[in-house]
Amino acid sequence: MELRDLPSVDELAREAGDPLAVDAARAVIERAREEIRAGTDPGDLAARLREELADARRPRLRRVLNATGVVVHTNLGRAPLAEQAVERVAEVARGYSNLEYDLAAGARGSRQDHIAAILRRLTGAEAALVVNNNAAAVLLALAALAEGRDVVVSRGELIEIGDGFRIPDVLARSGARLVEVGTTNRTRAADYERAIGPETAVVLRVHQSNFRVVGFEERPRLEEVAAVAHHHGLPLVDDLGSGAIAPVEAEPTARESLAAGADLVCFSGDKLLGGPQAGIVLGRVELVERLRRHPLQRALRIDKLSLAALEGTLLLQLEAPERIPVLRTLAQGTDVVRERAERLAAATGGEVEETVGRVGGGALPLAELPSFACALEESLAAPLRAAEPPVVGVVRDGRLLLDCLTLTDAEAEEAASLVAAARG
Ligand SMILES: *Cc1c(COP(=O)(O)O)cnc(C)c1O
Repeated sequence: MELRDLPSVDELAREAGDPLAVDAARAVIERAREEIRAGTDPGDLAARLREELADARRPRLRRVLNATGVVVHTNLGRAPLAEQAVERVAEVARGYSNLEYDLAAGARGSRQDHIAAILRRLTGAEAALVVNNNAAAVLLALAALAEGRDVVVSRGELIEIGDGFRIPDVLARSGARLVEVGTTNRTRAADYERAIGPETAVVLRVHQSNFRVVGFEERPRLEEVAAVAHHHGLPLVDDLGSGAIAPVEAEPTARESLAAGADLVCFSGDKLLGGPQAGIVLGRVELVERLRRHPLQRALRIDKLSLAALEGTLLLQLEAPERIPVLRTLAQGTDVVRERAERLAAATGGEVEETVGRVGGGALPLAELPSFACALEESLAAPLRAAEPPVVGVVRDGRLLLDCLTLTDAEAEEAASLVAAARG
């Protein structure tokens, strides 16, 4: 084919009779032009247009198979929802709901009322409030309790969590002033004591997330920090980050933090809780009430779909935590993962390889989860990412590792067929 043989954009688009055809035809012809200039034949333009149109209609936000071995993968949507949580979302989304309606009273209610009781039951907290995510929870807590005043934080906890979320910046946005105590590696209770002055409103403790100081380091226990704060009549706010409800190895639970003296704790809904994106605040009634009444609360509130998913997940936390995907993945035996990798390797001609999985999401950064992967040729990485559904693995030492820690049995079978298709 020569350049002059190419149809016009309009000619090509007209045949398709599709409202998206003009843009698609432009893209097809542009590519065909480049190919002709490069000396290759662009082939059947009408077929290409059909492909282009199908692609334009395919959703951009899609399910993927997580073969990375990172359980709470921040780039891959964090926590998958439990089936029961998905059902709650579908039911609430499909029609009207009592989101802000008190059915018993026949009057206006609060969206917060649906989950406060179960959160109290799961954690022993006096009161609960749920917002859009944990960053919002920290921002709201500091704005409501410390605007225009000082917040005391250890230098070892002034972290950046990822994608530019920095504790000092959030603190500044809340209108509070940061008072740093201690050093990066060592902070003692006495450092907090010295930093507290007439302008102090809050003592803040932050989970160090995916960062650890190893070696010559010291951090007071939460009880000691609480004792200092309470001695001065100040609230202790504990940003737990992942906030386990059920104990997961050494990760602090919300219940433990409250029992150790934290007056407010906040954490994410889609990390170790295994639910939707949400920020959960628990603690003393009068403090939670100040957050609830703050004008930012309205801007940061949780939406009904997330609320439905959160309620579904919390019910499972109470009755059947093993049905929550994140917890199930963390609890599965290494032999189960190895057998899965063996089946995948047998089906794809790959090799089984020992790997190390991670919890992810800032929780337990040093925890190494023993795992197994199926090792394949590196050239499969790009075609598998382009597959439907896409498969995301790890490229290492010239090979593609499909880690079986984070695939279910059914997903591993799906991955096997996608590998076969990708090899053509
Ligand atoms: C993840 C994390 C956050 C942010 O939570 P999001 O739910 O992602 O907004 C805040 N603080 C800590 C310590 C975290 O680990």
